[in-house]
Amino acid sequence: MTTIRTRFAPSPTGYIHVGNVRAALYPWLLARQQGGSFILRIEDTDQARFVEGATELILDTLEWLGLDWNEGPRKGGEYGPYFQTERRDIYKQWAQKLIDKGLAYADPYGPEEVQAFREQAKSEKRAFLYRDHRPENPPAWDGSQPLRFKVPEIKRYTWNDPVMGELSAGPEALDDFILIKSDGLPTYNFAHIVDDAEMGITHVIRGLEYISSIPKYLSLYDALEIEYPVLVCLPHIMAADGNKKLGKRDGAKSVQEYREDGYLPEAMLNFLASMGWNDGTEQEVFTRDELIAKFSLDRVQRSGARFDEKRLIWLNGQHIRMLDIDDLYERVADFWPTSAASADETTKKQILALVQDRMKTLKDLPILTNYFFEEPTPDWSMIDDNKQLKKLSRDEIQTYLRATHDALANSAFTPEDIQNTLNQLLETTDQKPGILFSLIRLAVSWAPFSPALNDTLAALGKETSLRRIQAAINSL
Ligand code: GLU
Repeated sequence: MTTIRTRFAPSPTGYIHVGNVRAALYPWLLARQQGGSFILRIEDTDQARFVEGATELILDTLEWLGLDWNEGPRKGGEYGPYFQTERRDIYKQWAQKLIDKGLAYADPYGPEEVQAFREQAKSEKRAFLYRDHRPENPPAWDGSQPLRFKVPEIKRYTWNDPVMGELSAGPEALDDFILIKSDGLPTYNFAHIVDDAEMGITHVIRGLEYISSIPKYLSLYDALEIEYPVLVCLPHIMAADGNKKLGKRDGAKSVQEYREDGYLPEAMLNFLASMGWNDGTEQEVFTRDELIAKFSLDRVQRSGARFDEKRLIWLNGQHIRMLDIDDLYERVADFWPTSAASADETTKKQILALVQDRMKTLKDLPILTNYFFEEPTPDWSMIDDNKQLKKLSRDEIQTYLRATHDALANSAFTPEDIQNTLNQLLETTDQKPGILFSLIRLAVSWAPFSPALNDTLAALGKETSLRRIQAAINSL
């Protein structure tokens, strides 16, 4: 039994957007499920697309999501270095193997000549293939020219992708592609094959944009006498509307933005894992451990999965409810309204517990709790906008609030006492709870939502509750 080794191999060209996380998540899940290793490798050979700080951002994002790696940057490991720009000698050695076998050659052509080949192919109505123009006597490779692969056998390749199924492509997919560029750095096509082999990767899991290149990779594996790993291409994540792949240009947000918007990493993982995958049951909410236990590549859908942000919001609310209060308290540290600055931990935890079930994102905290910490301003338009309450006259409102004030003034103010007092008020005023309690809620909070009325009043305390009801009466 070989131990599974999977990898995520991002290029430091910017932030990780949500459409790309599955290329990290699925290999991570597989490695964790099978007791294997998950390797992180930074593919930084494309100097033109390199973005300063992108690597740090990617690592921070993976750490926040909890996608921990066994080997890679910040960790080390016995197959390093894990940055491709630090592995130039390794690529040279593998390139030399190909040169020695007569399977690589120095590309003697300049851009004008290649352009002429292209135009020739176009005028002859055939696809441009570099191998049709392979030079007869290429110069010795001195590193200043690109080094090209000399594809040894033009044939049809068939392979089995655990997600996409049995696939096959013919000679049109094979060509003499560049192995090492004239800047001395390898291309992705060459470097990732060398690295995956050197690092003992058993499953290569990446996006669908690579599928048409797989025959090229297979021809190179053959030339280098490397056993094929399992090759997996993941279907695209589709933008919410239209029929195109979700990309940064359609507003695919970075994972860090979701973090700032108050999403939990476990909700993000649940959402992303179950976009285009299910365990065969109706289950929708999965903990991290459940995902690890239940994930399988053969239940990943072949068709593109649609990005549905409403579902993410719903899942986030579900995961917020599952947290114990101490855990939730730590997660919301940066989300309290400024009015809560001087409140003590016990008070804040009590209030947090009251609003936990109502929170969809951590960012909801200020609107749900601000009135606990700061005197709200009466806003009578909220009464007028309320279907039930707008039927009450100002006189009725005044009578109800005065009765409430007097009754609560005599309450011992535990949640049970308050509930008893409120129940008696329903009798004395002969009103429905939907009306009377909504009115009292607004009078003490002037907020669109609040928890159960007795809990809200208890958390506010007797003095504050009475003062606010009086203020409401005064402002009538
Ligand atoms: N560096 C490639 C990218 O960022 C990785 C593709 C792969 O996983 O092999 O798209």
